[in-house]
Amino acid sequence: MGIVVQKYGGTSVGSVERIRRVAERVAAVHAQGKPCVVTVSAMGKTTDQLIDLARQVSPRPPAREMDMLLTTGEQVSIALLAMALSELGVPARSLTGWQAGITTDEIHGKARIQEIDTRLIRECLDRGEVVIVAGFQGKTATGEITTLGRGGSDTTAVALAAALEAEVCEIYTDVPGVFTADPRVVPRAGKMDEISFEEMLELAHLGAAVLHPRSVECAMKHRVPLVVRSSFSEEPGTWVKEAKDLETERHVRGIAHDMHVARMKVLGLKNRIETLSHLFGILADAHINVDMIVQSEHDAERIDVAFSVHEDEGELAKEVIEARREELDYLKVLYETGLAKVSAVGAGMVSRPGVAAKMFAALTDAGIRIKMVSTSEIKISCVIPRERAVEAVRELHAAFGLDVAEGEMAGIAAKGAG
Ligand code: ADP
Ligand code: ASP
Ligand code: MG
Repeated sequence: MGIVVQKYGGTSVGSVERIRRVAERVAAVHAQGKPCVVTVSAMGKTTDQLIDLARQVSPRPPAREMDMLLTTGEQVSIALLAMALSELGVPARSLTGWQAGITTDEIHGKARIQEIDTRLIRECLDRGEVVIVAGFQGKTATGEITTLGRGGSDTTAVALAAALEAEVCEIYTDVPGVFTADPRVVPRAGKMDEISFEEMLELAHLGAAVLHPRSVECAMKHRVPLVVRSSFSEEPGTWVKEAKDLETERHVRGIAHDMHVARMKVLGLKNRIETLSHLFGILADAHINVDMIVQSEHDAERIDVAFSVHEDEGELAKEVIEARREELDYLKVLYETGLAKVSAVGAGMVSRPGVAAKMFAALTDAGIRIKMVSTSEIKISCVIPRERAVEAVRELHAAFGLDVAEGEMAGIAAKGAG
């Protein structure tokens, strides 16, 4: 019988009562005789609390020690879920990421899974045990503990499903599926029954936290049947699948937003043939992910380069660039934080002109200043002031005709409210 991989997120295992409910769901799959592998996140806000604890000790803690600390969160929830399952008479075994055979690269804090040795998992399954694997963690070839980046438990689940050639990977979370925008921000967002891998990948990269971007990448590459569902209901959820199987081709399918954007401007860079490769090479060596890039002329000999990064990496980017001032030969660096990025995503965009115009018009009409723009075949993104982001997302959602009628609103509370 096909293996089922399930993943339960932080809210879904946020209390002892909720862990019991997850155990009951898992027990129901086990009772059908299906081999079951479950990945869980740390309970509730545990990861945030651990980060906060670390910051109290050190403003920039060593990445290795951060991983050592953060991986404890998932270790708590796997053990508790295994206990809850044994209480129900279901044989279960919890495994850390490294016990489960997950090997990653060496980049602490955002490691990538390189390989999964599934032997131990398969042995447990053969004995009829439910296997519970800690999400978000792995081990390097030299034995160091790593984490996969915030939200990375989704990737653990999908990678396990791929390695085990599972029949399905079910991501259980605190909303009933993937919506046309974050339903906690846009009350009129509608749930999608299905979405293409490409669109989901863009939405995830652009800030839709519901799936970790690398989990979508992995599912797309290995053709893992992937569904996002609520852990609190029996609703069918949203299937993420190949575009050719999809029925709809709306030009804009969803709006994503990312509240943590910083912008750097490097002004008056000496214009040499290798200037850009040199600048971005330095950032890449520091493992900083650069997002949008804009280059313009400063004067006959110099250029200005502006780029955006995740706010968490902004300070580091600034330090790295300032440390190499002489060799880069620039006049000034400006650093701006408190920004957000709003994006419209849709595979049907390629063939329709006017999407960018509509987006700019909607933001302009609301009096929202656009600071940076980037486009691809299936998305348009604008960097704007963070304090206007919620309003911008709602305006765009309405402008692209995505609002559902009042009677169809999902009624999902804003985060922190419930
Ligand atoms: P989990 O702990 O289960 O992994 P996350 O908080 O990581 O949960 O992801 C679920 C959250 O993603 C939802 O509560 C919702 O606020 C947010 N979200 C953002 N964009 C979307 C979207 N397009 N559809 C659904 N949820 C979204
Ligand atoms: N616990 C980790 C986080 O909060 C991983 C996850 O939840 O997916 O980011
Ligand atoms: Mg998540």
